[in-house]
Amino acid sequence: MTALTIGFIGLGNMGAPMAANLAAAGHSLRSYDVAGTAATGVTSVGSIPEAVEGADVVITMLPNGTILREVAALALDHMRAGATLIDCSTVDVESARNVAQAATDKNILCVDAPVSGGIGGAAAGTLTFMAGGTAEAFATAAPLFEIMGQKAVHCGDAGAGQAAKICNNMILGATMIATCEAFALADKLGLERQKMFDVVSTSSGYSWSMNAYCPAPGVGPTSPADNGYTPGFAAELMLKDLGLSQQAAELVDADTPMGARALELYRTFVEDENGRGRDFSAMLPRFAARGRDD
Ligand code: NAD
Repeated sequence: MTALTIGFIGLGNMGAPMAANLAAAGHSLRSYDVAGTAATGVTSVGSIPEAVEGADVVITMLPNGTILREVAALALDHMRAGATLIDCSTVDVESARNVAQAATDKNILCVDAPVSGGIGGAAAGTLTFMAGGTAEAFATAAPLFEIMGQKAVHCGDAGAGQAAKICNNMILGATMIATCEAFALADKLGLERQKMFDVVSTSSGYSWSMNAYCPAPGVGPTSPADNGYTPGFAAELMLKDLGLSQQAAELVDADTPMGARALELYRTFVEDENGRGRDFSAMLPRFAARGRDD
């Protein structure tokens, strides 16, 4: 493997362990985070230009599309032609495409590569990357995806990675809600949760939410439900992703009623029902505590 010079911007919960894994694999990293956070084996610098100048690759892991656009505008001004920008943040499709166009205008390769796998996957180097961009850009990024993750899918052109991510998470949000409301109904019908799991997990109602991440404590494999609904995947992150899918649906005139309802329910849960900081599967105690007219 050729050791690359990598600029890494955004060392939060996800970015810091991802950067540390790249450094541990022998790459030379310079990082910048506005909050002054650092990562093991990585040289922290005081600005974006210092982090990206002369780098072969620049990776960003930031909170949203507005911040990504600002950071990318500055980074692209200081990157060398022929280098590659890999954005691993979850952002709106439009921002991803906008940044990719700005990169192309400067002869810089660009990949949008949001991830799934959460903080645990980032630390263990087992993330899944969903990538959008040219074949050349993806080929440059692929060896780095191998270090930070266990799987990378080239989904298509610029924005396709973000599109895959928000479609997946729209299914996940709606499915988790359906699973939780069904458990709450089963409770009221006097059906034991374990029996409900035994049937549904091997019947046509099965899903990742039921089988791999069961929202009922003490039932199915160990999940955040068994740990008082400590995330895991926090409800506010699900809310963010459902917002992005509705934003995209509006832009392209796609009819997504289940996604829209899931967004409404997670918004209420996070903003009015103390859902912030709880796992997104904590929808189960929420439904269990309610009646039809609450
Ligand atoms: P985070 O808030 O912990 O990290 C974001 C970091 O970006 C922070 O350290 C912040 O200081 C830094 N930052 C903000 N503005 C900046 C700027 N202008 N310049 C430099 N640094 C700046 O968030 P996270 O949990 O690491 O998530 C990062 C991205 O990954 C998000 O887009 C999120 O949706 C996505 N994601 C998160 C998870 C998860 O489980 N946490 C899972 C999948 C995807």
